[in-house]
Amino acid sequence: MSELAELFDSLDMEFWFDREGVQHKITHGSSGMQINAKECPFCGDRRWRVYLNAETGAGNCFLCGEKFSKSKFIHQHIGGAWGPTIQHVKDVLHDQGWRPKRKNKVATENPNDIQIPESLPMPTKDGQMLIYLVERGITPELAEYFGLRFCIDAWWNYVRDDGEKGGQNFANRVLIPIHDLDGTLVNFQGRDVTGGEDRRKYLFPAGLPGTGRFLYNAHNGVRMKRAVLGEGVFDVIAIKKAFDEDVGLRDVAPMASFGKHLSYGALDGNDQLGRFLKLKEMGLEEVTIMWDGEKNALVSAIATADKIRGIGLKVRIALLPAGKDPNEASAEEVRAAFYGARLYDKMAGVAWLLRNPYKLPS
Ligand SMILES: [Zn+2]
Repeated sequence: MSELAELFDSLDMEFWFDREGVQHKITHGSSGMQINAKECPFCGDRRWRVYLNAETGAGNCFLCGEKFSKSKFIHQHIGGAWGPTIQHVKDVLHDQGWRPKRKNKVATENPNDIQIPESLPMPTKDGQMLIYLVERGITPELAEYFGLRFCIDAWWNYVRDDGEKGGQNFANRVLIPIHDLDGTLVNFQGRDVTGGEDRRKYLFPAGLPGTGRFLYNAHNGVRMKRAVLGEGVFDVIAIKKAFDEDVGLRDVAPMASFGKHLSYGALDGNDQLGRFLKLKEMGLEEVTIMWDGEKNALVSAIATADKIRGIGLKVRIALLPAGKDPNEASAEEVRAAFYGARLYDKMAGVAWLLRNPYKLPS
């Protein structure tokens, strides 16, 4: 397989739709899971006439008759030359992490029966901590708060489409449970601790709904007035650590979007913006976006701020030092970025777009 084909092959279409905020519905057809998109990128029709196979990304528009592959569809959506499309796919894969190819049906929307692979709670009952976590500045209290576990060598088992059993080995990974707002366990991630070059940094269990519709750690922020939105799990842990050291920030709920993007547009509200709306109904008033200190992250943050503001929440954007994420910045820098965050409105967004405080990545 060519490198390009492999790139597209690894890309999960449902994740892509979530990440891009492209309106779609998931349907279960005779040939497996399908994605029904609202808009056809070829003819521009917006009446839900486009269907794609969720596994392969192949599909067609029933209005203009265009048939397409995953790459053709994404390229048409992005528009322009292939260079930017390929860069886009690389960015998506970076956010997506590695996940197994979609050979299995999504189990259920709210699987109450998720069995996290056999693993040790962190800290262990006799107070042992994984050195990897200690080196990352994660205290036993933080590990316990986030429910971190260490998998020595165990498998995640699932049933594939063909009825056969499938398995993924989560050996030598920190397991990070992911919950929905009501505290239901909906997914988990496995972070590699060996640093081996042949190892995927993050492993996602097959057969569970994608993380792109959830907000990490938001179940701990229900009924709080202020939230801070980081990109990933370890950013949230770093923010929580920095905020815990300041009594003035203990009422701010740290959560993450799993990437520089917020999903929205699901008709049933089953996406990240829908979850912010639920949090608002439970008392949330203000969200501070704290994504990486770099040019593209700020551009994405502005787009996301606009969506969150659109549901009536106050939004602020925090600027971290250039080139740093909350996990790389010092606790002081994280707190300073939060205190110095600027209220977002259309004018602030335009000003940042015209004069981005970060330089292009070199
Ligand atoms: Zn069409």
